[in-house]
Amino acid sequence: MESIDKYFIVTRAKARKGFSRGCIGRIEAETQTGDILGIVYGSGGGTAKSGGLLKREETYPLTRHQAQLLLFVSPASRRLEILCNQTLFKAICELAQDDLIVVRYKKGFQPCLVKNLMQIGRKDGSDDLNMLGFELQPVSPQNSDKKLSSKKPAPLPVFSAADIIQVAQSSTKLPLRDNHTIGINRRTVSRINSMPIMGSKNGFLGKKISRNSPEVESLSNSYQLEVGSMVEMASDRNVILYGVIRWIGVPTGEKGDWAGIELDNDVGTCTDGTFHGQRYFTCRGNRAVFVPLEMCMPDGRFHSPSPSSSAGTEESPQTPLAVTPIEEDEGEEEDVPPLTESEVLRVLEGKMKGIQGHFNSCYLDATLFSLFSSSMTIDRLLQSSANAEVSICRQMRRDIVNQLRRHGFVPAENVMNFRKQLGCNTYVTEEKDPEEFIAILFQRVLHMDPLLKMRLNGDSGSSQDAYTYQIILEKNDVGHCPSVQQLLETSFMSCNLKFEEVPSCLMVQMPRFGKNFKMFPCIMPSTELDITDLLHQFPRECFICGQLAQHECTQCFRDRKLLPGRIKQYCSTCNTQVHSHPSRQGHTPRSLALRAELSTSSPVPRTHMQLFAVLCIQTSHYVSFVKYGPGPQSWMFFDSMADRSGDDHTGYNIPEVRACPEVGDFLSQSEEACACVDLSQASDLVRRLLCDSFICLYQSSR
Ligand SMILES: [Zn+2]
Ligand SMILES: [Zn+2]
Repeated sequence: MESIDKYFIVTRAKARKGFSRGCIGRIEAETQTGDILGIVYGSGGGTAKSGGLLKREETYPLTRHQAQLLLFVSPASRRLEILCNQTLFKAICELAQDDLIVVRYKKGFQPCLVKNLMQIGRKDGSDDLNMLGFELQPVSPQNSDKKLSSKKPAPLPVFSAADIIQVAQSSTKLPLRDNHTIGINRRTVSRINSMPIMGSKNGFLGKKISRNSPEVESLSNSYQLEVGSMVEMASDRNVILYGVIRWIGVPTGEKGDWAGIELDNDVGTCTDGTFHGQRYFTCRGNRAVFVPLEMCMPDGRFHSPSPSSSAGTEESPQTPLAVTPIEEDEGEEEDVPPLTESEVLRVLEGKMKGIQGHFNSCYLDATLFSLFSSSMTIDRLLQSSANAEVSICRQMRRDIVNQLRRHGFVPAENVMNFRKQLGCNTYVTEEKDPEEFIAILFQRVLHMDPLLKMRLNGDSGSSQDAYTYQIILEKNDVGHCPSVQQLLETSFMSCNLKFEEVPSCLMVQMPRFGKNFKMFPCIMPSTELDITDLLHQFPRECFICGQLAQHECTQCFRDRKLLPGRIKQYCSTCNTQVHSHPSRQGHTPRSLALRAELSTSSPVPRTHMQLFAVLCIQTSHYVSFVKYGPGPQSWMFFDSMADRSGDDHTGYNIPEVRACPEVGDFLSQSEEACACVDLSQASDLVRRLLCDSFICLYQSSR
């Protein structure tokens, strides 16, 4: 068993020589007053050098393993940041061989398998503390490792704990340790550049607020605390309590965001995760406390003093860590185009690919993946928008769109930071509907005009603008497995709507309401929509003879003798003929006007839109299908929470992208053939596409 108290890290040292913040040391003895006689290790590890007396509250205890991992991290102040993210650091300490992790590497994110622990530097004496790094094998694209077989494999890169931004899979295997691991390697390596961790840009390291200051009241989570953050708060008796946030939300009967905190120690009046009789998380008894989020601040034991508070005092002369946002220093503002059809699978396919889900974010992950992974439509709209330089728009571009297209992976932190910008607290934690998010995204983030400009009640009607179109119809108007084409036409006829102009992007919401009610057991996502007959004052051809149509009849639309469910418009001759039938004499066809600027030459040009993504929902979880190239089989499936590692509170979601050529094969059939499909025989993904579709996304082929 490792002794937890033997090693320590200096958390708030005075300017005592050799004891700056982040120094790692070993306890040699304790005084009767509780002070520590410690020695600290140099940044290169190895032999301990200076020694002296320290107060216990200026230190934080470490195991030998923790101390060794942190010793390899530089600068020393960076070690405290790692300790702040307790959940992640705990997972890093428990890494075993072949665990999947993500490291920050060469301006991107690289999923890797843990191969070994590396002792760095020389080993002189048995009791010396050695720096430990991880030997990692990048998770390489398919087949690429075969090429290496003839060559001697290059040594694997070694990373420090600071380079690891995520632990995706925590195995049940024995964690790697330097004293009982198979074949631990020893090698002197140069340090891999450690970058600031995600979250440090939130800036809490630069701020320090004195406890119990009235100022605290007005700071509504300015520290951007989230589940897993180590925090402190003052109890009603002004004792400082330390703990980890396990839950954030609005408890029943309260207002604003509250945090449920698991304290480091038992407190008599606390619970095991309940608040006013309702359970929000589970922990040991007497450890859960619930407070308004604004009462929490980051655990002060790991703070850097702010420059102003250290000025003129005898606090550590060490420069506070520069809080630099993580940015690509070159090409950051450049718009990365979507991956080409031939690149997509290499960059995007696999586990830990796509956008990583976190905290009910699937509605957002699936929507962003659908809109940006392969389509250029929104990019083109943005280019013509004057507001593309607004900061949240640039943030989305940099942290999500460019990351996805360049590296094939967007970590949950990036999505979380973006969610925080959406201007409403509930976007951070709660599950939302994609159509609601789409409206916010296009309106508030991208500052775009409504994508759909529609006109109600024919010629004289009022205009109706929207970002998505919700199908509205009577169930009996179409068959039991209608196509999107049928649904759209029927809905437009029922609501008496026309498009004022051809939309560049048309997002059609299927008729399903709430989480459970679907109007149809399955819907065929038409790969191509013909919207010619849905355009206001555009030329259309006579349903019977193909000449230029001059009349439209809504009653004929449902006529069972006339191919029901298809829009009917006629030339003058055919209009008279059709309506001479006794059963149609009561019809009231409407005459069609034509825009002066449009040519009326025959044949009438058709206007098509192409299906490029389908957002699906299955028991309140959103996933998406995306067409990634012109090839008929070029379809992929994305789930931001395909798998999960660890338990409910400390685990991570593992997003996954899978090629699904079978979906492409299925959709390549005629709609009539598709409609005859036996769902029980269809592949899993084809069934999900047909049964769970929620929004079908079309782009103009022009
Ligand atoms: Zn005709
Ligand atoms: Zn009619």
